[in-house]
Amino acid sequence: MGMLKSSLAFLVLAFAFFLCFIMSTGSYVYFQFVQQWPPTTCRLSSKPSNQHRPLQRFTIHGLWPSNYSNPRKPSNCNGSPHMRSKLKISWPDVESGNDTRFWEGEWNKHGTCSEERLNQMQYFERSHDIWMSYNITKILKNASIIPSATQKWTYSDIVSPIKTATGRTPLLRCKQDKKTQLLHLHEVVFCFEYNALKQIDCNRTAGCGNQQAISFQ
Ligand code: 5GP
Repeated sequence: MGMLKSSLAFLVLAFAFFLCFIMSTGSYVYFQFVQQWPPTTCRLSSKPSNQHRPLQRFTIHGLWPSNYSNPRKPSNCNGSPHMRSKLKISWPDVESGNDTRFWEGEWNKHGTCSEERLNQMQYFERSHDIWMSYNITKILKNASIIPSATQKWTYSDIVSPIKTATGRTPLLRCKQDKKTQLLHLHEVVFCFEYNALKQIDCNRTAGCGNQQAISFQ
């Protein structure tokens, strides 16, 4: 019995050390590949609206090395900025029109945290390739989910066709309009294992309220 207790204590301690190690070194366990719906980004943006680009297609927000214990960590690791012309299509800055600064920010905040696996070039190429592999705008359109000022959808209405197309469960992120209280579909997240090669199910709880009607416009 005493032996069992001390083994258990050892395991708990080892796990705690492992978690601390992950949080402190900036390591990650998996990737979140986040695509945004620009009209929602712009509608609820605090940046000057004359620079908004409400493109009618999902574009990349970022490829985020993530941990299950704290999905937003690690961040702000060291690195250098880089730009590629094809990202102007897949990864535009839809809020303030400064693509390079947006990429630089995403690389510095997120990309540098997975630099041991993906160098800067690989990080941006992989992101673009993932974006190219599934066209969310088209997947939703084929399921008759098209931007509408009046129609509302459930979480599963939107997730189902994406899950069918990709074979994996995505995550939806919504933003609430403070004035109208409407919940807007903002981002679709794909999850990838450590190497960013194999897509996996996202298993976090959704950021789209509980059973609320979702607007997509
Ligand atoms: P994160 O830094 O966690 O990747 O994303 C959060 C920030 O990205 C927010 O401040 C959000 O406004 C910003 N963001 C999302 N989309 C865009 C965009 O298209 N352009 C710019 N400049 N910022 C964006």
